Amino acid sequence: MMDEYQIPRERMIALLREHYKIRDAAVLRAMSEVPRHLFVPDALKSQAYKDNALPIASKQTISQPFIVARMTELLELNSQSKVLEIGAGSGYQTAILSRLAGQIYAVERVPILVREAQEKFQRFNIKNVTLACADGSLGWEAHAPFDAILVAAGSPTIPQPLLNQLKIGGRLVLPVGADQKTQKLIRVTRTERNFTTEDFGACAFVPLIGEHGWQ
Ligand code: SAH
Repeated sequence: MMDEYQIPRERMIALLREHYKIRDAAVLRAMSEVPRHLFVPDALKSQAYKDNALPIASKQTISQPFIVARMTELLELNSQSKVLEIGAGSGYQTAILSRLAGQIYAVERVPILVREAQEKFQRFNIKNVTLACADGSLGWEAHAPFDAILVAAGSPTIPQPLLNQLKIGGRLVLPVGADQKTQKLIRVTRTERNFTTEDFGACAFVPLIGEHGWQ
């Protein structure tokens, strides 16, 4: 889209490609099309394309663009994918997913964030997202199994319901760590009989608060 933030947005994409080595062209395209400045508080608009997380309502954060890009890339989505997103927050990550997958089921536990994100999906005419206010550490059994699950909040362990709700071949990308302040970015892939786990390094998310997360 053409707007006053087009140049900073293009700079952000160049940084993702050249510095962070994000290679998935579809992910880069989606991020060049979604107006991140409209997902942050008005007072922070001018910082929307910087290389860091920013505060949103209820002491939560909109994730750093690099983390959004990396997690999305790791999900390996296509236009048929059915995705579960936990911790929708501002709705920015959800908007990116909505451009790359078929159907998105998103969960957020803070009611005001749910309301604000719903408004954005309407404003941007996003129709393939169903957002609920609930404890996402339980997954969303009614719509399972999923091709891909993204958790945008740090959990002490991998929530068992999320493993159960993955299709065979499905990918779960989430930050896991016994310390509330720092985690490892993990991808779990469900195989015919088991799960394989890959580690993508250190990261820092707000805590996943719920039955299978932090108390
Ligand atoms: N992807 C979001 C990140 C928001 S931060 C964005 O870029 O804006 C993580 C979010 O997870 C917060 O909004 C927090 O309220 C939410 N959260 C924490 N625990 C949760 C749970 N058990 N279920 C659903 N959402 C949860």
